[in-house]
Amino acid sequence: MTDGARIPEHGSDAKELLALIEQRHAEDIDWRGGKAFSLVYNVDDHEHEELIEQVALRYIHDNALNPFKYPSVLQMELDVISMACQLLGTEPNAGSMSSGGTESIFLAVQVARGIAEPQPLTPSTAHPAFAKAAKYLDLEHILIPVGPDGRADVAATEAAITERTGLIVGSAPCYPYGVIDDIPALAGLALERDILFHTDACLGGWILPWWERLGEEVPPWDFRVPGVTSISADIHKYGYTFKGASTVLYKSRDLLSHQFFWYDDWPGGLYASGTAAGTRSAAPIAGAWAAINHLGEDGYLRLTEIVRDTTRRMQAGIEGIDGLEITHAPDLSLFEIGSSTLDIGAVGDVMDDRGWNLDRQQGGLHLMLSPYHARIADQFLADLADGAATTEASRGREASYGGLAT
Ligand SMILES: *Cc1c(COP(=O)(O)O)cnc(C)c1O
Repeated sequence: MTDGARIPEHGSDAKELLALIEQRHAEDIDWRGGKAFSLVYNVDDHEHEELIEQVALRYIHDNALNPFKYPSVLQMELDVISMACQLLGTEPNAGSMSSGGTESIFLAVQVARGIAEPQPLTPSTAHPAFAKAAKYLDLEHILIPVGPDGRADVAATEAAITERTGLIVGSAPCYPYGVIDDIPALAGLALERDILFHTDACLGGWILPWWERLGEEVPPWDFRVPGVTSISADIHKYGYTFKGASTVLYKSRDLLSHQFFWYDDWPGGLYASGTAAGTRSAAPIAGAWAAINHLGEDGYLRLTEIVRDTTRRMQAGIEGIDGLEITHAPDLSLFEIGSSTLDIGAVGDVMDDRGWNLDRQQGGLHLMLSPYHARIADQFLADLADGAATTEASRGREASYGGLAT
């Protein structure tokens, strides 16, 4: 027996419940102040936030399970897919929206599963969603180590290919180090053998195109690269909408069709569904549509410039602190801070004590930047310098990400 919550015999007053929620919510991570570096992407634009909140309210009750009952939702979803396809360079209707990066990745692995019984081959830095998809789909997942620069080891990948390899994966960029794998080489291996290749651009998909247009060097990763057959790209990250919006895109509409589920052996009638979910909230679709249309190309470029400049400032500041280093030179706005001389855990403890929320990785502290961080960069660097100067020993918090509600 547990003494967990029970359904109350009598309902509570709405105002009282809201007050209770407000009080509890205040205990959660304070991302608005710029002290969070993952989980939330603070766009630092009040009008934008208010817009997507209003849109969410309008669509909170609607169900995107049957788009034909919601022509306005269907149109927004088609628009978002078309805009994403244009951004990443594939046919205008060769993709779908999903609830997040994990679902997008699951769907892409499932497409490979539908064609063969493949062993997915991923770098060790690839997101755990691939391991999760392999577990759910009962596939043997092969992990390839990465080189000293944090990128997938192409030779090791080639050596690991067998006749059962059905899908090769690279990240643009990977979460732990922010580096982009050598997608042309990896996708080339897949192309030569006529197998599928997925670029995981959950993080980079909605920012790298703008980063490139700002004149930055971006290693090739999208559908311009021969051999890339699918890409996951989350709008709820650098697309700046609220959670529940990702895209998974394919080289062709034909490949996408392998993702669909049709079932006509049910007294309820023909059941068709494009993604893993049945009932789907319409709010993230409408929110993504509004976010993209509100920002537009000039908005994304403006925000990307802020993120880029903040990244440069942070990198220079961190490299200037005695004992600290960025472990792998990143291709984007996220990286790991490590040290070969200091107890990096102790540095993290000082940052914790000052209210910063840096994720602990196996090799150091993780930082991912959003537009709002331009406002806190100086304070952050000052606190980090204090952290690096600490003489305390680490309290021993372990590397972790995510968690279970148990
Ligand atoms: C966030 C992320 C994912 C998973 O996306 P969720 O939206 O958290 O499910 C996959 N790959 C990379 C590189 C990511 O950063």
